[in-house]
Amino acid sequence: MQIPQNIQENADMKQYTSFRAGGSAKYFAKVESAEELTEFKEFAKEASLPYFILGLGSNVVVSDAGYEGLIIKLGKKFSHFKFDKETLTAGAATPLSILARMSATMGFSGIHLLAGIPGSVGGAVAMNAGAYGEEIAQTLTEVKVQEENGTIQNYSKEECGFDYRHSAFQNTKSIILEASFRLEAANSKELLDAQAEVLAERKAKQPLELPSAGSMFKRPVRGFPGALIEQAGLKGFAIGGAQVSPKHANFIVNTGCATAQNIYDLSQLIRDRVKTLSGIQLEREVIFLGKF
Ligand SMILES: Cc1cc2nc3c(=O)[nH]c(=O)nc-3n(C[C@H](O)[C@H](O)[C@H](O)COP(=O)(O)OP(=O)(O)OC[C@H]3O[C@@H](n4cnc5c(N)ncnc54)[C@H](O)[C@@H]3O)c2cc1C
Repeated sequence: MQIPQNIQENADMKQYTSFRAGGSAKYFAKVESAEELTEFKEFAKEASLPYFILGLGSNVVVSDAGYEGLIIKLGKKFSHFKFDKETLTAGAATPLSILARMSATMGFSGIHLLAGIPGSVGGAVAMNAGAYGEEIAQTLTEVKVQEENGTIQNYSKEECGFDYRHSAFQNTKSIILEASFRLEAANSKELLDAQAEVLAERKAKQPLELPSAGSMFKRPVRGFPGALIEQAGLKGFAIGGAQVSPKHANFIVNTGCATAQNIYDLSQLIRDRVKTLSGIQLEREVIFLGKF
């Protein structure tokens, strides 16, 4: 079978994921148009391979053994945004941090506290990312997607199936192309001050100096993952190069030479210990792609 131009073979995914660990994708492509997306998905279908859509890779770990399929990343053409009064429309590859900063500068509230989340708009919608009382679903009005069969559809917020760190897009093959938000006019100086405060708090409390994927576990119904992990005596515990951050126990960090398996094994050990000690079953927020 002819491999389309622009599809790379055996692409190292470390450089595309924030953990800076793990293996390669059998095939990897950066796409610059909806037509190219259709072409690449067609290739995967003909090759009987799965495909996975990657944003900024800040919530994904690829197996050391690699991903036996096609990883698709939306390119620069999908990184754009436009403010029309309180309505903001942004391409899926746009970094959320840029949007958050721009919205605060322009005097619009609703996503300004999400500035420290190192993901893309597509990834933030798929994960329903949130922080400091703001969640992407709160201000989102519409999402434009390319369906598995290539058709373009607009989804209303209600059709996105949002829940805590969850959206319907996690269980489908729809690719988010663009999202629209309804923000609220507010005082720019106050928004920028509030933003600076939460960014400073992140710096003080989170191990931003080391590679990670942010919180490893979702908040359970009772308690907080960080406190439960600490109570289990695991703060600072390491497997290979993967360590439970001494600064924030819900972060697993790569101290330099972590394998994807080290990260997975540590997360598994945490789940087992916390379950035994507290009866609480922690659920991973980070996505492990491939065989573990
Ligand atoms: C230091 C640090 C701090 C963090 N803090 C927070 C936080 O405060 N709050 C929070 O919620 N998260 C946080 N995260 C996690 C992460 O940044 C978010 O989950 C983010 O939304 C992921 O976006 P991404 O573009 O990196 O997506 P990726 O990690 O690349 O992908 C995540 C999921 O989204 C899907 N996806 C990505 N793009 C698309 C698309 N265009 N169409 C369909 N599906 C898509 C992927 O298939 C995958 O299932 C943090 C991570 C780090 C490293």
